[in-house]
Amino acid sequence: MKPTIHFIHEKFVYFNELIFNGKLPLPSFQLTNATSFLGKYQRKEVNGELIDVITMSTSEELKEQELEDVLIHEMIHFEIRYLGLQDTSAHGHLFMCRMTWINAVHKRNISVSHRRGAQDEILPSRSKRGVCTVALMCFESGEKGIKVMSYSYNSINEFMNKVSNVSAVKSVEYYIVNDSFFDKYPRSTALKYYRISDEDIAKHLPEKAKLST
Ligand SMILES: [Zn+2]
Repeated sequence: MKPTIHFIHEKFVYFNELIFNGKLPLPSFQLTNATSFLGKYQRKEVNGELIDVITMSTSEELKEQELEDVLIHEMIHFEIRYLGLQDTSAHGHLFMCRMTWINAVHKRNISVSHRRGAQDEILPSRSKRGVCTVALMCFESGEKGIKVMSYSYNSINEFMNKVSNVSAVKSVEYYIVNDSFFDKYPRSTALKYYRISDEDIAKHLPEKAKLST
């Protein structure tokens, strides 16, 4: 199938709720017959006003699920811009971290090349600092602890499985951040956690950075 404005609009609303906590404002949607890309996110100046535009190409026949993955890819670009986060490049550490997360948690197959089979994408080792996914665990005791998560698709799944079997953990929330505060914590799938104060939670884990699971 090929995308229509109606299709993109409906899917945007659906995935915004499902994956992005409903936080993204509605952008403009455009179609193109360009063959150089399948999807594009841009912030454009129109009559002195900045507007967000998601463009999708009608140049190729794709499966519905593939079109959805293209749209979600563009929504990640939009989210990073919306959160005011600085990525290392167009598909930098932040993008890859977010993409891997969504592929793992929401069972998608998003890639940076818009091709299939990129869900094992693992970040290069130089990305050990700055951008990370943080799990905030609230325990039955009232204590709170964090775990800075390792990047890979498998380790995200492994951690979520493990933590769901620990009865002392009352709830877990996940955040995506670009904050050197977390550099001092090791990254692994181990269930070891580090205590964190409410003050540091308020300061370093803002509500808008929360990920949906
Ligand atoms: Zn992209």
